[in-house]
Amino acid sequence: MAKRKRKKKKMKVIFLLIILILGAISIFYIINRKIFLSQINYNMSGNITYYDRYGIHLNFKGDFKLKDDYSNPTLVLSNGKDEFIVDWDIKNNNNHYSFKTSKYINGGINLEKLTSGTYYLLIKVNSSNKITYLPLINKTTYSDITYYTLTKNGHNKKINITWDKYAGHELLGFHITNTSLPNDVYDITIDPGHDGNDAGMIVCADGSVPNNQGKCYNSIAYKESDINFTVAKALQNELEKMGFKVKLTRESKKATVPTYGKMGSGTTANTTKSKFNLALHHNSTNIPGGMSSTHGLEVYVAGDSKFDLARLLVKNICKYGNTNISTKKEFKTEDGIYQRFSDDGITPYYYMIREIGGIATHAYVDGSNKDYDANPYYNSNDTAEGYLMELGYIDNVKELKNILNNPKGYAKGIALALQAYLKNVMK
Ligand SMILES: [Zn+2]
Repeated sequence: MAKRKRKKKKMKVIFLLIILILGAISIFYIINRKIFLSQINYNMSGNITYYDRYGIHLNFKGDFKLKDDYSNPTLVLSNGKDEFIVDWDIKNNNNHYSFKTSKYINGGINLEKLTSGTYYLLIKVNSSNKITYLPLINKTTYSDITYYTLTKNGHNKKINITWDKYAGHELLGFHITNTSLPNDVYDITIDPGHDGNDAGMIVCADGSVPNNQGKCYNSIAYKESDINFTVAKALQNELEKMGFKVKLTRESKKATVPTYGKMGSGTTANTTKSKFNLALHHNSTNIPGGMSSTHGLEVYVAGDSKFDLARLLVKNICKYGNTNISTKKEFKTEDGIYQRFSDDGITPYYYMIREIGGIATHAYVDGSNKDYDANPYYNSNDTAEGYLMELGYIDNVKELKNILNNPKGYAKGIALALQAYLKNVMK
């Protein structure tokens, strides 16, 4: 009995020691952070006039003035100990600077690359051979951002981007901790275009024209909505095998889904904090009789986008889907990549790209367009990177056969493109 008691006492002492050491470490970090924050020059500051999270990237726009004896400004994420330089495009007009972190909506700070800890976004300047940090102040009306990194080996990071206060002064904090995904947060959303009420195009396997009820006389009728769903399910399977958590905007061929609201086809990616939204469709020329000579793949992207992922989608879907880039010339930007805009030349024509990207893609349902009701669930500066894929022309009999025979190939091409893209941006 005495021996067991002694052992218990020993365990207690070890436990207390661990608590003490952990406590000392965290006090050390808190003191260090306080010292760093007290060294920031709060008499001067920069302004943030725009910020948004689009996919895995975070972008800022802002401006600031510098006194004559200040020089060499850089944008940094710093905690005083670890510091990361943030790329920016900066313009100087008589010491009045304006900046943006990228000219591309899918450029800027790669949130997937950040490491755990608390950091502040600051302007670092030289003044008479001394280094000084200036805080950034919020001039927007946007909400704070909570970002969850893509699932990797079952793990995620949570990044809270908030306007913090230090001794009454405002500054922009990044609070990064390890976590797992909450139930209602996903990595990727897939939208199988159309639904149980809206079939999209209906075609006959032999190229003949279906009647008004969507029936074919001598062959099987295929609905675009069903084919989209088959590829979407195969894509979900491929992405889940890679470890991603995937949300479909509808769970069956017959299910119906609204466009907006909390879980609409245009808003689910936003509600679930997804990083990517992949909208799957199949095209048609409306020329009946299997005579459509137009065929092939079209990947629709938003304006001001880098095409890195779009190009990989084109390459891999063609390879694994055993298909080709589209022969269509209209809206074509480069091989397989298409951009279609409204009359203003900048607003994406497809709501699947426009609303998915929020302010980055000129969304309407955030209240900025009076013709649309503002969606109360929608956060316009914290959105997914959207792609709309017209995988092939189902009124082309040869292409229809290829799609029906090989939905898994198309899905594999999309999944491998995303995987290759993520590998590239982590370098
Ligand atoms: Zn469609």
